[in-house]
Amino acid sequence: MADLALSDYRRLVVKVGSSLLVDDAGRLNRQWLETLADDIAHLQAHKHEMLIVSSGAIAIGSSVLGINKKRARLEDLQAAAAAGQVQLVHAYQEVLGKHGITAAQILLTPDDTENRRRFLNARGTLGRLLDQSVIPIINENDTVATEEIRYGDNDRLAGRVAQLVMADALILLSDVDGFYTADPGTDPDATHIPEVRAISAEMLAMAGETRSDIGSGGMATKVQAARIATHAGCSTIIASGVIEHPLRALSANARCTIFRAEGTPATARKQWLAGVLEVRGEVRIDQGAAQALHSGNSLLPVGVVEVIGNFRRGDVVTVVGPNGKELGRGLTEYSDTDALRLRGCQSDKIEERLGYRGRSVMIHRDELVLFDSDR
Ligand code: GLU
Repeated sequence: MADLALSDYRRLVVKVGSSLLVDDAGRLNRQWLETLADDIAHLQAHKHEMLIVSSGAIAIGSSVLGINKKRARLEDLQAAAAAGQVQLVHAYQEVLGKHGITAAQILLTPDDTENRRRFLNARGTLGRLLDQSVIPIINENDTVATEEIRYGDNDRLAGRVAQLVMADALILLSDVDGFYTADPGTDPDATHIPEVRAISAEMLAMAGETRSDIGSGGMATKVQAARIATHAGCSTIIASGVIEHPLRALSANARCTIFRAEGTPATARKQWLAGVLEVRGEVRIDQGAAQALHSGNSLLPVGVVEVIGNFRRGDVVTVVGPNGKELGRGLTEYSDTDALRLRGCQSDKIEERLGYRGRSVMIHRDELVLFDSDR
């Protein structure tokens, strides 16, 4: 058995599949959800930051609206999701509320995680919620996510969320207790694999297209989610949620598969930044700001002395020190026009300068990579 201590991970994304939450008649499994909420509250009390990606809106909403999922058109499913989502989030709000925990609803589309400007917005909101110990309950925004542009399954959405928030671990709870060499439901020779260090093409092929009836993901989407997350420095665990208190069981070494992360979320983000080819502009900063960056702080507008090039929020820009040396690069929170207006501006004067309430930083420290000092 792979050694699994949840205590090693600080920021956790837990993905809950529809088949765990909702029965065949579309009823919410309230008792099970309460045990999950107990586990989440326990982990949060032990200094873990928790996020939940939950499916179940379509399953609940289909029964509310009397829609037969097997024959439904996309717009029927979207309507079902809209009706079911309210009930889904309400249930989370109630079970977490019993522990004095506030829940918040976040609905995302692939565009929100793939497009860098929107990515920065989503990341800012989620970060703020976590700072306040609020638990985000995340689902796909099914109303606007149509076939060609939707995740369609919450496994990959959860992988992207884990990457977005730089989570240390992603836990995919479903009706299977891990990765098998074949579908354990149909093949008696299927062998459970407790630990994966690198995801091969062969594994993706082995994951096949197994699907449970209620949810839309199968093993293939779980392995894809693991691939996204592990590349982002986040270990991924496939575990059974069929039992009550599924996270407590995991902490007590229940059977699961762990896909080990490649590096940490911070190194993965910095490697990605270092490898981006398109650098759109340059931000020159003063000595004080250069020192602040080297001590691990974000770049504030007050330290910016010059802005060169044409760029938009979310583009990669070079950061140049007072002696003209390139110090590093990062994702800018402001376009070149706004960055120019904000040169030397104290953070509390940003709104006055811009005419709207902006972000307090020019480049967040998580989105900044510094080059070696001899470069
Ligand atoms: N957004 C869908 C729902 O809430 C979930 C998709 C999935 O099954 O993963 O019903």
